[in-house]
Amino acid sequence: MNTELIKELADSCPLIKNLIEFKETFWFNPNITTFEEGLPYVGLTADDVKNAAERLKRFAPYIAKVFPETSKYNGIIESGIENIEKIKTELAALGYKNIKGDLLLKKDSHLPVSGSIKARGGIYEVLKYAEDLAVEANLLSYSDNYEKLCSKEFTDFFSRYSIAVGSTGNLGLSIGIISAALGFNVFVHMSADASQWKKDRLRFLGVNVIEYNSDYSIAVEKARKGAENNPLCFFVDDENSRNLFLGYSVAGERVRKQLEDMNITVDVKNPLFVYLPCGVGGGPGGVAFGLKLAFGDNVHCIFAEPTHSPCMFLGVYTGMHDKISVRDIGIDNITAADGLAVGRASGFVGRAMKRLIDGYYTVEDRNLYCLLALLNKTEKIKLEPSALAGMLGPVHTSRSTDYLKFLNIDTETMKNAKHLVWATGGGMVPDKEFNEYIKKAELISLRPFL
Ligand SMILES: *Cc1c(COP(=O)(O)O)cnc(C)c1O
Repeated sequence: MNTELIKELADSCPLIKNLIEFKETFWFNPNITTFEEGLPYVGLTADDVKNAAERLKRFAPYIAKVFPETSKYNGIIESGIENIEKIKTELAALGYKNIKGDLLLKKDSHLPVSGSIKARGGIYEVLKYAEDLAVEANLLSYSDNYEKLCSKEFTDFFSRYSIAVGSTGNLGLSIGIISAALGFNVFVHMSADASQWKKDRLRFLGVNVIEYNSDYSIAVEKARKGAENNPLCFFVDDENSRNLFLGYSVAGERVRKQLEDMNITVDVKNPLFVYLPCGVGGGPGGVAFGLKLAFGDNVHCIFAEPTHSPCMFLGVYTGMHDKISVRDIGIDNITAADGLAVGRASGFVGRAMKRLIDGYYTVEDRNLYCLLALLNKTEKIKLEPSALAGMLGPVHTSRSTDYLKFLNIDTETMKNAKHLVWATGGGMVPDKEFNEYIKKAELISLRPFL
């Protein structure tokens, strides 16, 4: 804990006091800009995202072949959007009244291959690395049918290379699964947060899992070090990778099509709010970038973090980005939301996206558990605790009159709003673990912030 720093920040950043006290806090960022103004600062373009989407299309025949569960979508790894209106009544009964607009759930929890949002960025990054290697070696050209990557020629070729990553669980799971399928040697450095079943599954696939009794930053550091002096080892840099970010951002255009197919209009009179659970920031940042490209100023992205790991909130709010860790303000970064257990945000994402993310809020672990049980009860959907972080977002935005005034959204318009809660993981959680979540939820009750 850095008491000097806390003192220094006290006046300019009054909400830090709430964060230190682990109070659920919403901050709307008054420094946001229009999409047009903010876009140049991202450092990436619509063309970059288009290229990423095209790369995923090239790989689709390969993905369909290796992961048969994707074959009915022709090898495109995508999740559905569902209406979850029923949970509104339950939330109202618990004191979360007056959500204005409709509630929708984006089920990245049920993305094929690895059952979390990491099936976007993580898999994309490895595919790009594999493609670069194979093209460089004249084994592959962009117009080939990529199904040939299943052949022994390719798995032998990739087995000369390794991939290293540090993770709290889901990124390691994604990287491990796709890398092992391609034939790479994989080293997944897992923080203490990682669930046993994720490590077991990876070892079963022949992945090298290295465990640490410490948090995410140490696991990443070790993975980085391990890869440093080995030119044949590629380090997946969760904190800085532009490719990871682009893999996530492909979601934006796909969501635009999905909503269109559902006859849902998004425009000035029908705003779209999207609530994204945030760990280091690459996932939600990349998705938000894609959404901004697809919907411009009519989409409003809000990041959600556990009260014990509010790294992006803290980084953007203080303007210190990756120069500050939650530990500097005495926060322990210990949370049941293992996908979000990150103490220091990505400096790249925070700086690139700070003008385009409308707000940040924190949520207590106990509420994540209760919401998990509630959603399972009303919709029979299995999520992991991290994936519920976005669930209270619609309550925050509906209640935040200052914020809505800033956006020029009146009560009538707000009634037309769509709230898309991004459920980021849980589809592959074994029943045994899931039942433990439910048991925990039964012991606690939802604690409304008022
Ligand atoms: C990784 C993860 C996130 C957040 O992604 P970051 O890139 O770390 O911000 C959210 N939810 C789940 C379940 C995750 O695994």
